[in-house]
Amino acid sequence: MEGVGAQRTVPAHGRASVPAHPSPDQVKASPRLELDLPTVRDAFATFRDAFPSVEPAYAVKANPHPEVLALLAGLGVSADLASVGELDACLLAGIEPRRMTWGNPVKKASDVRAAVAAGVTRFTTDSAADVDLLAREAPGAAVTVRLAVDDDGSATPFAGKFGVPPEEAAALLRRADAAGLRAHGLGFHPGSQQTDPSSWRRGIASARRAADLAGLPVGELNLGGGFPTRHAAGPVPALRDIAAAVDAELGDWRPHLVAEPGRALVADAGVLVAEVVLVTERAGRRWVYLDVGRYQGLAETEGEMIVYRLRCPGHAGSAPRGPVVLAGPTCDGDDVLYRHADVRLPLDLAPGDVVEFLGAGAYTSSYASVGFNGLPPLPTVILPTSDPREDP
Ligand SMILES: *Cc1c(COP(=O)(O)O)cnc(C)c1O
Repeated sequence: MEGVGAQRTVPAHGRASVPAHPSPDQVKASPRLELDLPTVRDAFATFRDAFPSVEPAYAVKANPHPEVLALLAGLGVSADLASVGELDACLLAGIEPRRMTWGNPVKKASDVRAAVAAGVTRFTTDSAADVDLLAREAPGAAVTVRLAVDDDGSATPFAGKFGVPPEEAAALLRRADAAGLRAHGLGFHPGSQQTDPSSWRRGIASARRAADLAGLPVGELNLGGGFPTRHAAGPVPALRDIAAAVDAELGDWRPHLVAEPGRALVADAGVLVAEVVLVTERAGRRWVYLDVGRYQGLAETEGEMIVYRLRCPGHAGSAPRGPVVLAGPTCDGDDVLYRHADVRLPLDLAPGDVVEFLGAGAYTSSYASVGFNGLPPLPTVILPTSDPREDP
């Protein structure tokens, strides 16, 4: 920590739902997220190997657990922040403010003030009003303008929520420059679980166009996140395939490169362990209700966009299986995980049996509600590192 950040009292918000040291009850609680930190370490090494000349800025929202942040901080990661809560979590983990970028283009003046006080000097923007806010609250800060990118191929497309076309990006860079900011970056985010490497190519192409139009030296290019991980839908492109697409599109353009991986660093490290509560027939279909659902961390099952790989320990792989509708435990009609996806579970599955969601280390614990229907947020259990998790 440096500068004013050293004197700042870090408030407790933003961490209440991610206890560092779960109680003995939580260790066997169901549901729970079991996290294997060596897998995070391996995922980070894989990312570095694929993108050796890229500054990796971990998208904290994917999994802000203090032990994940501390591990990544120790490996020299940078951080992509979206809120004061994430800023505080990163400061506590020991990530230096100069390694932080405030990636959320939607911010309050109080957010910018907190970031500046902590020593953060890099911000992403995508509107004139936000450029003006940064000019007022963070004079001299480095600004990266976010381009809208065609995010077809993403499991979670943004549908126009963020980013601007190249012409507008160029105008925002000039506006930032005129207002005394360091208008030096362009970026894009291809949308999470992006399975089409050409999405990065399209982003780089529009960044190049914006750079040409701006007529200012553009020193930094942010490739966003979106690097996919394996779920039930089958194979996804390897990081090196995405890196090859990025290299091909960059040609001899050599800006400082930043990327914001979230999912790719933590998904494979997590197994969400749940329990069957009820099995019943409804209108000719077998419904399996679990003690985990949309509100305890499985938010990404909305629209069935992420279909997790499932494992039923205690049932032989050869046990006969049949199609199910998989549902969560709450009274909300939307709390159905999979109705259309082809999910097959053992026919003799019964209440009390365990069902595990694999590759669930990203966007689960951070998404759990505080207590819908009186159900607590998903606890995280850090696995003892002497107990290597075998691959299914
Ligand atoms: C969420 C987010 C990321 C991380 O996305 P992943 O799919 O987890 O890699 C990166 N950048 C921005 C701007 C984001 O909103």
